[in-house]
Amino acid sequence: MIGASLITINMLSTSTQHLSDSGLRERFHRRSLEHQRPLSTVTLAFTVVAFLCFVAARNLVGGPAAPLAYRLACAPVLALLVLAIPYAKSTGVFGLIGVAYSLVLVAGLAINLAGVAQPLLWVLPAMVAIPVCAAPLWLTPTHFVVGSALFYAAAAALLFGVPLAHDAQVVTWMWIVAIGVPTSTVFHFGFYRFRRNHFLLESQLAQLAATDPLTGLQNRRAFVKQAERRLATLAPQTRISAIFIDIDNFKSLNDRFGHAVGDHALYQVAHVLMDETGAGDSVSRVGGEEFAVLLRDGIDGALHVAERLRRAIATIERPDGHLTASFGVAEHRGGESIMVLLDRADEALLRAKHSGRNRVCAERALQPGARQWGAGDTAGEGGATQRHRWDDYYLTSHFQPLYSLSHQKQVGFEA
Ligand code: GH3
Ligand code: MG
Ligand code: MG
Repeated sequence: MIGASLITINMLSTSTQHLSDSGLRERFHRRSLEHQRPLSTVTLAFTVVAFLCFVAARNLVGGPAAPLAYRLACAPVLALLVLAIPYAKSTGVFGLIGVAYSLVLVAGLAINLAGVAQPLLWVLPAMVAIPVCAAPLWLTPTHFVVGSALFYAAAAALLFGVPLAHDAQVVTWMWIVAIGVPTSTVFHFGFYRFRRNHFLLESQLAQLAATDPLTGLQNRRAFVKQAERRLATLAPQTRISAIFIDIDNFKSLNDRFGHAVGDHALYQVAHVLMDETGAGDSVSRVGGEEFAVLLRDGIDGALHVAERLRRAIATIERPDGHLTASFGVAEHRGGESIMVLLDRADEALLRAKHSGRNRVCAERALQPGARQWGAGDTAGEGGATQRHRWDDYYLTSHFQPLYSLSHQKQVGFEA
């Protein structure tokens, strides 16, 4: 029941998600840049080719033309702008490249146009087609409005410089205003909405895939992934510790009072863990009634935090008393993976379970001369003495397949 309502809240919050959050908007812009970069590079590269064709076609037409070197001058600038696209790290730079590109293109057209008998025939298709083709490439509506306004301002300057009959004026502005502008606007906003909705869906799915629906905590996969990233980028002196937590006798809570009560207890434990840890720490529900915390602290600090968590969990009521949990704590060693760190914390947790539950155990100090943080397991009762007892004790697992003769296949295994 509680789980179901939490899931509903989660779904509601994601379906109403929009780009008002600045972090989300920034991520959307970064993603847009990633998406549009290859498309823009190809499209603009084609435009360079189209421009070269334009220059070549001008050679076939009579009338005094500007020297070829001048008429070609824009081509290398356009090519350099295309080459700059992969290096644009922000949407702002990307937009500037787009604006520079369309203005250089207009200048190139103007230089080639000089001296032709019917300039409108040459320039009008470009005036209509360029903004339409470029519309999906503008990353944001602001870029589109600014870029298109500058393009049309340059285009208008070009058209006003060309002697046109009245009818030609009407036809020109009809093409630009009635076809060029609306089509490019529809194209731009259509693509923008598509990209935005795609991004929102993608981020909602990523969030759902990383979240435990019952508690709202990171799930195991997201926790391990984030922890791997953190450990890989760890500054040399930074100390990191893991706390492994397992609720005691949880099965009896389910069995005696039902799963809804068990679910509610998991939810309460998750909230205690979130309340008692810092913003820089990662908290995850890694399994059924198992949680893990990755702390930016050494073993001593982590033992204190674990003890604080143990006390806080012990205040949560269950119908037959109070919840308790057992804790295993381990500090990260240089070069070690998150799974190995969690394994060592898990081993300490196992000792906490075997020495009576509701206690915190530190990992064993394995290397000679290592700090003695393992000596005083900050247990509830009797931690240190239990530790000596468990020092020489270890568990091994043995599995044996169960084979069903009637089904003629393996149906499980016995541990
Ligand atoms: P110990 O003190 O040794 O840890 O004993 P335990 O009973 O806590 O451990 P055990 O592993 O036997 O039981 C874990 C139980 O957690 C079994 C399973 O039914 C329950 N569980 C796992 N996931 C969920 C869940 O999402 N909701 C609920 N209500 N129970 C769950
Ligand atoms: Mg367990
Ligand atoms: Mg348990």
